[in-house]
Amino acid sequence: MEFENFQLHPLVASGVKAAGYNAPTPVQVQAIPPVLHGRDVMGLAQTGTGKTAAFALPILHRLMQGGRRHVRALVIAPTRELAEQIHEAITGLGQKTGLRSVTVYGGVAMNPQVEKLRRGVEIVVACPGRLLDHIEHKTVDLSRIEVLVLDEADHMFDMGFLPDIRRILSHLPRKRQTLLFSATMPEEIRRLARDVMSAPVTVQVGTTAPAVTVSHALYPVSQHLKTPLLIDLLRRTDTGSVLIFTRTKHRAKRLGEQLVKNGYRAASLQGNLSQARRQAAMKGFRNGTFQVMVATDIAARGIDVTQVSHVINYDIPDTTDAYIHRIGRTGRAARSGDAYTLVTGEDSDMVRAIERILGSPIERRRMDGFDYSAPAPRQAMEFSRPPRPFIQPHRKGGQKKAGGTARSLRATFR
Ligand code: AMP
Repeated sequence: MEFENFQLHPLVASGVKAAGYNAPTPVQVQAIPPVLHGRDVMGLAQTGTGKTAAFALPILHRLMQGGRRHVRALVIAPTRELAEQIHEAITGLGQKTGLRSVTVYGGVAMNPQVEKLRRGVEIVVACPGRLLDHIEHKTVDLSRIEVLVLDEADHMFDMGFLPDIRRILSHLPRKRQTLLFSATMPEEIRRLARDVMSAPVTVQVGTTAPAVTVSHALYPVSQHLKTPLLIDLLRRTDTGSVLIFTRTKHRAKRLGEQLVKNGYRAASLQGNLSQARRQAAMKGFRNGTFQVMVATDIAARGIDVTQVSHVINYDIPDTTDAYIHRIGRTGRAARSGDAYTLVTGEDSDMVRAIERILGSPIERRRMDGFDYSAPAPRQAMEFSRPPRPFIQPHRKGGQKKAGGTARSLRATFR
C-alpha cells in the first residue's frame, strides 16, 4: 500500500513527503479510507502506531474544501504534551495547506489562545478543562465543527474527563464525523462510543500485545538493590534515550537525582512540575541533552519520543494496560526497543498477568558480577521499602473511586 492510493489533496500529500513517510502504517492503511469517506471510526491503537497521521491526513484533506477561518475540526486529548504533539503533527503534515491549528490547554495564559482563536483557525487541539473554560467565556465557537476526534479516550476516562467530554459534546453539532482512538476499550469507552458515534468502522492494530519490535526482560532484585542494579544495567547496556518509570512522583524525583549524582544526564518528569519546567525537561530529552528521563505513568502520558531505545520499569506498573502503554514508548514506528522491568517477589502476580497478555513468558535475567546479597546502602534507604500503593482516580467499571484524586489530577492537567 502506498500513500498515493489514498489520493490525498496534493498539498496534503506534499506534507507526507516532507515528513519522510514512505509507506502508511497498518493503522493508517485501515483508518484513512473510511475517514476519507466520512465514516465514524473507532480506532483501537496505541501511541507509536502512527494513529495521529491516520486522522490528521484525512482531516487536512477534507478541510481543503470549504470555508476557512472558523473552527471545523476539534481534537480532544488528555494531556498538554499529547495536544502539542498532535498540533505539531498537523502543522507539519499540513505545512503547505495554509490551514491553521491552535492548541488549547490549561497551565498557560488564556489570552494568547483567545487571540489565535479570534484571528480564525480551522483546527483546535484541546484538553477538556481549558476547552470548557473557552466555551464558558464564549471565546471559542464550536457550532460549525465537522469532525471531532477523541484521542487516547481510555486515558481521558482514567483521568476523570468523561463528564467534561460529555459537556463539550453538547456544544457540538449533532451532524458531524466522530473519530475515537483508544489503546484499550473499557466498558465506559464502549458506552461513550455507542452514544457519540453512528455506525462506526472499527480499526484495530496491536491492542492486546505491544509492537513486535520490543523485546522484554525481567530483572529480579530486592527492593533496596533496585537503584544499584539499575545503575549497573545502564552502565553495561548500550542505550540511546532511556525512559524509566517509577510508581510515585517522589520516587521519580529522587531517582532522577541519584542518577545525576552517578554521572547520568537525567531529568525527572512529574505531574506537579510547572508547565515551563515540563516543557524544558521534555525538550532536553528529545534533543538528547538528557539521556535518561524518569517519570510516573501520568506524567509520561502522551509522550512521543521516537528515539527511546529502552523503557525501564523501575517499579512494575499496576495494570497490564499500563505496561502496554509504557512500553509503547519504545519500538515505535518500526524501530526496535527493549523493555526491562525490575521485579521483586511481591510483583509475581502482575508479572504473570503481563505474560498472559504477551502470550509468552518473559526472560528472567541475572546480572553477572552484581552483588545481589549486599545490604541496603544508607543513601538508598528511600527505596528500601516498596512504594506506596498507587490509587487510581477511576478504576475500570467504577468500583474504586478515590475521593479527591480525580479532581486534583484534573486540576494538574487542565
Ligand atoms: P503516533 O502513533 O501518531 O504517535 O506516531 C508515532 C510516530 O510515528 C511519530 O513520530 C510519527 O511521526 C511516525 N509516523 C507516523 N506515520 C508514519 C509513517 N507512515 N511512516 C513513518 N513514520 C510514521
